[in-house]
Amino acid sequence: MTSPAKISPATLANLAKLGIHHRADLLLHLPIRYEDETHLAPIAAVEPGETAQVQGVITHAGITHRPRRTLICRLQDASGELYLRFLNFYPSQTKLLAVDNQIRAVGEVRMGYYGLEMVHPKCRAVNDETPLQTSLTPVYPATAGLSQTALRKLIANALEVLPTPDYLPEEICNNLNLLGFSESLNVLHNPMPDIAASSLEERTHPAWRRIKFDELLAQQLSMRVHHRERSNRVAPALKQTGRYTAALLKNLPFKLTGAQQKVFSEISRDLAKPHPMQRLLLGDVGSGKTIVAALAALQAIENGYQVAFMAPTEILAEQHYLKLGDWLAPLGVTPVWLSGSLKKKDKRVASDKIASGETLLAIGTHALFQQQISFHKLGLAIVDEQHKFGVQQRLALHAKGKTEKSVRPINLVVGHPPELVEGNEFTAQRVRQAHHERPDEQFKSAEPHQLMMSATPIPRTLAMSYYADLDVSVIDELPPGRTPVITKLVSEARRDEVFERVRAACMTGQQAYWVCPLIDESEVLQLQNALETHQMLTGTFPELRVGLVHGKMDSSEKVRVMAAFKTGELQLLVATTVIEVGVDVPNASLMVIDHAERMGLAQLHQLRGRVGRGAAQSLCILLYQKPLSELARTRLKVIFENTDGFAIAQQDLQLRGPGELLGARQSGMAMLRFANIETDEDLLNMARDVADQLLRDYPEAARGYLHRWMANKHDYLHV
Ligand code: ADP
Ligand code: MG
Repeated sequence: MTSPAKISPATLANLAKLGIHHRADLLLHLPIRYEDETHLAPIAAVEPGETAQVQGVITHAGITHRPRRTLICRLQDASGELYLRFLNFYPSQTKLLAVDNQIRAVGEVRMGYYGLEMVHPKCRAVNDETPLQTSLTPVYPATAGLSQTALRKLIANALEVLPTPDYLPEEICNNLNLLGFSESLNVLHNPMPDIAASSLEERTHPAWRRIKFDELLAQQLSMRVHHRERSNRVAPALKQTGRYTAALLKNLPFKLTGAQQKVFSEISRDLAKPHPMQRLLLGDVGSGKTIVAALAALQAIENGYQVAFMAPTEILAEQHYLKLGDWLAPLGVTPVWLSGSLKKKDKRVASDKIASGETLLAIGTHALFQQQISFHKLGLAIVDEQHKFGVQQRLALHAKGKTEKSVRPINLVVGHPPELVEGNEFTAQRVRQAHHERPDEQFKSAEPHQLMMSATPIPRTLAMSYYADLDVSVIDELPPGRTPVITKLVSEARRDEVFERVRAACMTGQQAYWVCPLIDESEVLQLQNALETHQMLTGTFPELRVGLVHGKMDSSEKVRVMAAFKTGELQLLVATTVIEVGVDVPNASLMVIDHAERMGLAQLHQLRGRVGRGAAQSLCILLYQKPLSELARTRLKVIFENTDGFAIAQQDLQLRGPGELLGARQSGMAMLRFANIETDEDLLNMARDVADQLLRDYPEAARGYLHRWMANKHDYLHV
């Protein structure tokens, strides 16, 4: 039996860069592609662009100095010759590649100055008896300082010395027609040459399917364990008394839609339980999430608990503050406002009211979750447009409302961590960390319930995988009386017609937004552009009252402008994308998005959602400049053809992959390495079923999975 390879500290550090922290992680460090060194190609038969292995004798070797020092050798076999070229080389290579030596070279062939050549091929000395490889040669994700050869050796050693138990119960494995785990590893690390290379590269081979299934299953398990673990935690049970909630409903000028009633009853039921709610409320722009949030807040307040309502921008937070203020004033509930731009003294007053418990409802930006702010008795935290927040902010949110300064342990693993496998010596310490050196005692102090809201709909597969630890409520119906927004694509060349449109709309008492082009490179340019656009439009429309709102404005100024627009004092509002989230001015029925080709799909959808909120027919003009990139063209087509946020998100997922859609989750979340939630939906569905089954009937197997796949990742699940 071979013994575990010794690994130097430098190599350990390099392995860590690749996400390999345990010896067992080497097993799951899978090839990105393969090289075929199982046969030799006659030199005359190789073609530019292909990767080939050739063998022959060096018939010439020389060093040239122009344009830079280069070693050039000629390799000849019975069929022909080609050149080997090296820009950086060592004396050992010059020696290896001396005239008359017999060499085997692997590399990509290309057409060079002298004819066919390989640049930096992999070369070794051979004789007539040197055997060929018997399996395809894996190429692994690598990093500077860690060669393919070194990685291959480490992985081969790991395959030899580590047990690779199949945690999937045999019966399930057979029923699902999946390949065994260790067989799959062997195939992927050492594939036989008769395996179709395409099935490996496209990851359709049964061995790949098995590994992807395992990855998805581990993800499902960890989400579920995390979800289940919440029922061991304590939150105040906030039963609906009706004192405020019923009163608010009675006073409202409209009736809740069926969808709003349904989601509120889901939330209300969760709040009444003595365990923290973590619910995501999804609803397209304009579907009426705010009133649902207000009802949730009142249910907490009815129980004498505090509520923090946080929005990602000052404009949006202020709007919530005003709106909830209106709604709640008749009930005698007065919210307190807190944002980063408040004067020191006012902030003080606000934070004192929060700390003493004098105020039960605090509305503001992420300033609410800064260190200095402490709540007397926080029962519910509401986060609007949660995808706009960063991971750090979500962590801070999580920590609020704890009555003691302890770190709550998270029981990622069901029961105890599995025994360390023999030979896992370099992992012992980390594994111990992963499975908490944290205190094992239950966290008993209460924590707040959480309601997260988002208008960025999550495609089904994404929700099923990355958000499976949250409960999700969906508002799938818009309030009545809305007429769908008409979208028009207009090229820059017809800008004048657009001006006329704006003028006509405003002259008949409607209001309009003009969204400035997005300038990614610099905030200064963005600001400059907003100022110029405002100036230009003021000149174009001397008869209209034109306002400007942008991100760099003082928040009190922003709020003043928004209020003026809301009351109709301003007719045309020039705005940067600060109005993207949540702004609600029902009388605005026209929106022009300048340089729409620069914006992303989610952004366009959000922006367009600012109109179509009243009874009037609304229009959104996407003004674009040619030439359009392929991606921009596709995006504009999608936004033109679709009004449903879910359909748009689905296409966005296809265009961009899950990373960006995940928003705040993306930076911390354990991303899938092998599976693709779009193309592997069948595996995802299987994994969901099996996850339930394992947790119910095979807890040992579930532990095995979590240990194998998640030992490095559990922290992320927490945010
Ligand atoms: P979003 O889901 O985008 O946050 P809002 O909560 O801002 O949507 O609601 C959009 C608009 O619809 C607001 O003016 C709100 O008062 C109004 N609204 C919400 N629910 C209803 C309803 N059931 N009937 C009529 N109007 C409603
Ligand atoms: Mg909103």
